[in-house]
Amino acid sequence: MTALWHPFADMADVQRDGEFVLSVGRGQFVFDAAGRKYLDMTAGLWFANVGHGRREIADAVAEQTAKLAAYSTFGDMANEPVLALAERVAAIAPMPAAKVFFTSGGSDAVDTAVKLVRRYWNLVGEPDRTTIITRERAYHGMHWGGTGLSGIEPNRAGHGDFGADAAHAPWNDASALADLIDERGANNVAAFFCEPIIGAGGVYSAGAAYLTKAREVCRERGVLWVSDEVITGFGRTGAWFASTRFDLDPDLMLTAKGLTSGYVPMGAVIASTQVAAPFFAPGAGAWRHGYTYSGHAVAAAAALVNLDIIEREGLVDRVAAMETVLERQLKPLVDHPMVTDVRSGVGLLGAVQLDPGSSTATAGRIARVLAGLRDRGVLSRGLVDGSLQISPPFVIEESDLEFFGKQCAGAMSAVLAAERNS
Ligand code: PLP
Repeated sequence: MTALWHPFADMADVQRDGEFVLSVGRGQFVFDAAGRKYLDMTAGLWFANVGHGRREIADAVAEQTAKLAAYSTFGDMANEPVLALAERVAAIAPMPAAKVFFTSGGSDAVDTAVKLVRRYWNLVGEPDRTTIITRERAYHGMHWGGTGLSGIEPNRAGHGDFGADAAHAPWNDASALADLIDERGANNVAAFFCEPIIGAGGVYSAGAAYLTKAREVCRERGVLWVSDEVITGFGRTGAWFASTRFDLDPDLMLTAKGLTSGYVPMGAVIASTQVAAPFFAPGAGAWRHGYTYSGHAVAAAAALVNLDIIEREGLVDRVAAMETVLERQLKPLVDHPMVTDVRSGVGLLGAVQLDPGSSTATAGRIARVLAGLRDRGVLSRGLVDGSLQISPPFVIEESDLEFFGKQCAGAMSAVLAAERNS
């Protein structure tokens, strides 16, 4: 019996089957408590971008912890690493003279953005702009605001009403987005929150043409564009941000995960000058929002070294180069009888869509495939649409991807054979 209450878990199953305990991480691999090695096909939860076990980050964390671990950044207070990090993040963001508001993670960034856009419209005299539009399949974290915005129905179900003034547009139709905004009345719509590539909803890219048109639809109607780059930020798509790659000119950009590669939790809301200006104007007063760990010094020190590593090792370009390699290695899986679709083509992001089957023999198929993969030394994860997540650390090699393809086909074939015999 465990005292640990796991997130996103069927705790009865965990109590029955026990826990899978990881002890060590090195590059694109992790090792369990018994020393068994696993290829990490998900970079933890889409975050270990520079790979596991970087001594350089550990040393920076130790040094900053001993020097000044943390202090409030409310009011006029700051610490050296957070000032350096804000400048650094602003310099790589695709928004000139951006301002950076730090959070403890991605869900904090989303809820900060919900409040920020509402407050923005209040400050500029359009307080009726309260509705936030997101997309079907969208994941925007698990805080109250972000759950209310979620386009993944099972994530909202069973909690009652979120009171969210939210509406969902189809995930891949910019004309439908325009219709929805017009139906609501553009003067009532605060912002469109968009994951440039849908992540937790199943890794779906609606393509550059969709993004360009959706951006235009929002611009024409004065609706703020919020790129949720918690997954796509800091190199995952082969550019610093998906907003850079797809030229999205965001009003706000939400980041976390890859900011520190997960070595220490941290997120950041990056604001354009237009959105920041009314908050910075004389007479605006204090925006009464912030977190105890906004601008945590140790997290900032980890982030700075993480960005050093990405730059020094050319990891953003590496991801761009690996995009076609990932496509090539995943492609053969589409011929497997258990696979209905393979998605890739934007950076180191992909998904293998499994046929869920429809008989009692096929129930729980994805869990058995994942268990088979684990037995074969590969860690992946089942996404809500029944696909396998692929988002490895940026240091993954082509031979690792080849290994994954073989093991995935093997695990699926073994599950099919067992189903036939049952
Ligand atoms: N937004 C997106 C697009 C995400 O994928 C996630 C997490 O996966 C979040 C927000 C929430 O981030 P966190 O889990 O760090 O709170």
